[in-house]
Amino acid sequence: VPEGHTLFRLARDQNAQFAGRPVRVSSPQGRFAESAALLDGRVLRRVESYGKHLFQVYEPGDAIVHIHLGLYGKVLAGAGAAPEAKGALRLRLEGPGAEGEGEWADLRGATVCELITRAERTAILAELGPDPLHPRPAGPAGSAADGARAAARMARSSKPVAALLMDQAVLAGVGNVYRAELLYRHRVDPLLPGRDLVAQDWAAMWADLVSLMRAGVRAGRIVTTLPEHRSRRSGPARDEDRCYVYRRAGLPCRVCGTTVATAVLVGRNLFWCPTCQNRPVGE
Ligand SMILES: [Zn+2]
Repeated sequence: VPEGHTLFRLARDQNAQFAGRPVRVSSPQGRFAESAALLDGRVLRRVESYGKHLFQVYEPGDAIVHIHLGLYGKVLAGAGAAPEAKGALRLRLEGPGAEGEGEWADLRGATVCELITRAERTAILAELGPDPLHPRPAGPAGSAADGARAAARMARSSKPVAALLMDQAVLAGVGNVYRAELLYRHRVDPLLPGRDLVAQDWAAMWADLVSLMRAGVRAGRIVTTLPEHRSRRSGPARDEDRCYVYRRAGLPCRVCGTTVATAVLVGRNLFWCPTCQNRPVGE
């Protein structure tokens, strides 16, 4: 499942491809055809991501395409002429490109692809916790900064931290990989109730999450391991060396050698090291 860094890159790429120019909008599959016809030929003003959501803002008027890739959504894009439209192609954008050479982007398999208004986007955003890739400053009326807003949600909950990190109302954009790896890097027991997470620990985790996700944007993949914990210390991380615990069930922990454990929590596989992530609260 794409995590926030993937959506952030997608928004950036689509801005470079299409923003500020008229686009052809179509739905060869037909499921989005009515909305596509309304948008066809308009200018795509900008594309934004927030958490796991993508918003394409069109002008004139009040028209935004809201996309959530879900489990199976994928975007394929390129320059030049678009390939022949085949299969369940929900949304196709075609633009002139910066130099008139042509740009295209195809969306398939998304959970959500809908035409919404600005007010509807505001309502969607209001349901989401802070996105580590879109830090907002502390607001007026004493509203807390982003990390603190997530902390306040967790401090009220008896749910496991591992469940809260995946809850998009607590944090937007964190998925299964960042969740497992963040808990490991901070040696936090995934089943620790949110209200028992020490404020200082969360502050360190939030700062780490911001830098890990920014690194994910730059690299286009998630790497959480330090070079000394990889099979090869120099050069870029090999794919099998990218994570400490994610999808490493049954393998030895990179730090202590204990077998990495797995269990299903809120419908998703959780991975952790029972030794490294078993420290008493606050130590
Ligand atoms: Zn370990």
